[in-house]
Amino acid sequence: MQTPLIDLQDIRKAYGGGDAPQVHVLRGIDLSIHAGEFVAIVGASGSGKSTLMNILGCLDRPTSGEYRFAGENVAGLDSDELAWLRREAFGFVFQGYHLIPSGSAQENVEMPAIYAGIPAAERHARAAALLDRLGLASRTGNRPHQLSGGQQQRVSIARALMNGGHIILADEPTGALDSHSGAEVMTLLDELASQGHVVILITHDREVAARAKRIIEIRDGLIISDSARDDPTVQTSANPGALQAVDLRKRLSAGAEATGAWKGELIDAVHAAWRVMWINRFRTALTLLGIIIGVASVVVMLAVGEGSKRQVMAQMGAFGSNIIYLSGSAPNPRTPPGVVTLADVAALASLAQVKRIMPVNGAEAGVRYGNVDHMSYVGGNDTNFPTIFNWPVVQGSYFTEADEKMPRPSR
Ligand code: ADP
Ligand code: MG
Repeated sequence: MQTPLIDLQDIRKAYGGGDAPQVHVLRGIDLSIHAGEFVAIVGASGSGKSTLMNILGCLDRPTSGEYRFAGENVAGLDSDELAWLRREAFGFVFQGYHLIPSGSAQENVEMPAIYAGIPAAERHARAAALLDRLGLASRTGNRPHQLSGGQQQRVSIARALMNGGHIILADEPTGALDSHSGAEVMTLLDELASQGHVVILITHDREVAARAKRIIEIRDGLIISDSARDDPTVQTSANPGALQAVDLRKRLSAGAEATGAWKGELIDAVHAAWRVMWINRFRTALTLLGIIIGVASVVVMLAVGEGSKRQVMAQMGAFGSNIIYLSGSAPNPRTPPGVVTLADVAALASLAQVKRIMPVNGAEAGVRYGNVDHMSYVGGNDTNFPTIFNWPVVQGSYFTEADEKMPRPSR
């Protein structure tokens, strides 16, 4: 007896645990599927079908139990090998199609091949051939919203076949379709099965399930009937053209080593990004505008901040916060005052930290203009005054050093 392609032993899956209550979704599934089989897994909603499909497709890991793929224990595969399995051994078909809305039918079908690192020319040709084979030759440029439900599901089947799709996992593929389109999709799956693909069809609909050669019924996470178990002749109906477990294992070991050219992937990623931006031109423009406004306001805020900082510094300068007064008066009135001489001033002026220095002397004095008297302060300074106090002359000009040196006018 040959190795089954898929062999599940006592597979269990529980969600929750810890704080949340544990839900046992799969409670011990034993299942073998051979190359070339067309299997339907049927059961009521919530019986665990999708959970089982995710485990079969290596999208999820079981909580316990053993999954052997082509004789290989899946738990022992590294992430590259798992990625290879998902990408090249399985093809997924979902109730909701899961197509990329911004891509054409052709681009959606090509998507898995991009990840497999297949050169563009080969990809285009293969996707076009698949779409042609599924009756969509005239729709390759249409985007998903320009296709009917049945056509979208055919595009998603073409996508599942893009990298080979040896095992087609279809979760309620007809669930969202009218009966006519549903029948078309079923005929297609039928054909694929007869060409040697393993088709695993998941459905809650017994009529749909009846199209399969083997029907497995699942209830509350347990298999309650399996037509192959009940009638052993079903199991041996494997298609002679089917890809055997041995082939897949060989490819598994070869495929995980081949890594796609990163340059090609980068170009494809840039293309995809550009396409999405181009399709949503208005949104892209708004986004760009938003970025421009954001950057511009940061620049403006920085400039305003710098400007007001300078203004504040200038005002602080006018307050005289950087002026130090040195006087001869004693802190204690009983001690005699000292004397600051012009020699001291000259000595202080030689300090690097002192920018300007000037001797001052002054006293309160009465000022009278017309009949208004005002007590003010009158002082003597030198030419440094406007700079030190940051008081520019409003009218006329300040006296200069030459003025200072001029002989006093005789009275
Ligand atoms: P089916 O596809 O047969 O309708 P599912 O496999 O989707 O059923 O789900 C089976 C049960 O597992 C449901 O009761 C669902 O609520 C539960 N379930 C599925 N996924 C999760 C999850 N991630 N966390 C908790 N419970 C889940
Ligand atoms: Mg489901």
